[in-house]
Amino acid sequence: MFDKVLIANRGEIALRVLRACRELGISTVAVHSTADANAMHVRLADESVCIGPPPATQSYLDIPAIVSAAEITGADAVHPGYGFLSENARFADILDEHGITFIGPSADHIRAMGDKIVAKQTVEDLGIPVVPGSPGAVTDMNEITALADDMGYPVLIKAASGGGGRGMKVAGSPDELETAIHSAKSEAKSAFGDDAVYLEKYLANPRHIEIQVLADGRGNAIHLGERDCSLQRRHQKVWEEALSPALNAEERTRIGEIVSTAMSKMKYKGVGTVEFLYENGEFYFIEMNTRLQVEHPVTEMITGLDLVQEQIRIAQGAPLNLTQDDITLSGHAIECRINAENPETFTPSPGTIEAVHVPGGLGVRVDSAIYAGYNVPPYYDSLIGKLIVFGKTRNECLMRLRRSLGEYVIEGVDTTIPLFQRLLQETDIMDGRYNIRWLEDYLAKQ
Ligand code: ADP
Repeated sequence: MFDKVLIANRGEIALRVLRACRELGISTVAVHSTADANAMHVRLADESVCIGPPPATQSYLDIPAIVSAAEITGADAVHPGYGFLSENARFADILDEHGITFIGPSADHIRAMGDKIVAKQTVEDLGIPVVPGSPGAVTDMNEITALADDMGYPVLIKAASGGGGRGMKVAGSPDELETAIHSAKSEAKSAFGDDAVYLEKYLANPRHIEIQVLADGRGNAIHLGERDCSLQRRHQKVWEEALSPALNAEERTRIGEIVSTAMSKMKYKGVGTVEFLYENGEFYFIEMNTRLQVEHPVTEMITGLDLVQEQIRIAQGAPLNLTQDDITLSGHAIECRINAENPETFTPSPGTIEAVHVPGGLGVRVDSAIYAGYNVPPYYDSLIGKLIVFGKTRNECLMRLRRSLGEYVIEGVDTTIPLFQRLLQETDIMDGRYNIRWLEDYLAKQ
């Protein structure tokens, strides 16, 4: 068992990991920038180390500073949370060289899944369905035109090193192709320093459905059902639910088994999420996230598992102590991401929290690190809380969500709480009839 874990993150996820460690009897080290000296994760950790000034590049992304903090405090392992260094293979390698365990998959798996072309080829070879597209990076215009004609328009040009929706362009017809290629390449070059692009069939109205997996690196792998994260704004998830209102039990089992078999063959280790677009009963792989995700609590609610504790056990080298038959998916859970943003314009709203009242009661969970008097700094992600609600049925969950949002009070900064209250008045949301375009279309009409 680890004695001490350093948490290389901030905000609600640092607290989430801290809580898992405390229940396992593991002591915790918080790291923080000077902007976060009074943050909740710093206050609650057993020890804390200041690792630099506010900009993330000089603190939460500074590998030497974090490794030094781990060495000084004698931490056995580092939990990266999500974002920051969580999918940085070099960080995992460096920790390994220092004899510190990275709580996550192997550096090789992080690397493979971090390159979208390699990822797509790897999972396709393991039997996972992918979006039809070019077999690899494309450069020759004649070849590109021929491929696009074959696939049929519209086509999507994607950056191999892409992320956060950048380096992605749609070409609706042959005459838009060349411009789309050029702009995808230049955007990718400036954002990622790599202008390799590939081609994919553009799906018109898919849902975003992702499968959560748990695997021990020895070939044991299980899936924990899906999450539907179709409600997105600018490719950022806003609301996530488990299970998806769109899948039936047969489809769920089929895709779950395909994914867990692939993870088992790959000898994947830790938690991971395989993301798909889903349209007309078919699944199309888009990417794999080799880390814990923001929306993991909805899966915890319907499985009763603590995914962070499972991650820690696996990182310690323990074999998976669960089989697929041990997993029962019951009830329904929805997560709303509460951001410090104007609910209409989505402009960030940093500042001092004057008052907070969090909702409670049966089936209500709030993962948040804010408190009255806390100053939301302008330097980081605007997520200040996650409201996660569970119900025996989707309908019960929706009623409870409406009740909880009504109780949630955050004063001093703008939040996206009113947006969710508005969404709950929409028949499409209540009926679970939405795809990845729904929210943008809805917001454009407001
Ligand atoms: P990133 O890593 O940049 O976030 P993803 O491959 O995960 O890129 O895709 C982000 C989003 O872009 C998806 O959630 C979906 O909304 C859209 N998208 C990606 N691929 C396609 C596709 N082939 N057809 C239609 N939309 C797509």
